[in-house]
Amino acid sequence: MNRSVSGIGMTSQRTRARMIDRLRERGIVDERVLAAIAAVPRHVFVEEALASRAYEDTALPLGFSQTISQPYIVARMIEVLREGGRELGKTLEIGAGCGYQAAVLAQLTGEVYAVERIELLLAKAKLNLRAIQQFKVRLKYADGQFGLPEAAPYDTIIVAAAASGVPNALLQQLALGGRMLLPVGSGDQFLLLIERRAQGYVETRLDSVRFVPLLSGLE
Ligand code: SAH
Repeated sequence: MNRSVSGIGMTSQRTRARMIDRLRERGIVDERVLAAIAAVPRHVFVEEALASRAYEDTALPLGFSQTISQPYIVARMIEVLREGGRELGKTLEIGAGCGYQAAVLAQLTGEVYAVERIELLLAKAKLNLRAIQQFKVRLKYADGQFGLPEAAPYDTIIVAAAASGVPNALLQQLALGGRMLLPVGSGDQFLLLIERRAQGYVETRLDSVRFVPLLSGLE
């Protein structure tokens, strides 16, 4: 068995339950989101040296100057996308990193595409998802600023890195009735919710946040 999936103390059900309690305390109420987070063993996705901190509600370094998202932010973003009990449907994640958020999304919808621009991170994500036997996520090595045209349109688009504006390709690849949530801004950042309706795009500015930048090109 993979070392990281085995039942060492710090990965115990109790440690994980405490993380869920903290998310509730911070205001996450969507039970399906909480259950999805509870179902994904986050310690598998972090460096072995940091595994004991995997269930703290903090971002942690992934290498390559990137971080694994804070569980609260993952929960908050997915909760916003699911507002009103909406199903996520076909979902595109930009910035897969080590694959953690993609694994959480896969608990909630059958169709997840996740794009990453750093090849070595993508390779890690593949290993991590395999380690937890999550085979539903389709990982792609690509610059997410151009979305992923091959499977468009998407009912849900979630972006894990901050751009100074909204990439046009992502707007185009959002299905009618779809929702996109992305961090925007180069200095101060905030979450921007974009809904595509028959009459056009409706934007709502939400929480202030801190994400790594959305970069161009492949590494
Ligand atoms: N979703 C991850 C968070 C990773 S951090 C998690 O669950 O923890 C954000 C990721 O976005 C980084 O891995 C970074 O390499 C990636 N990224 C930045 N710009 C990108 C781009 N243009 N296309 C695809 N991925 C990008």
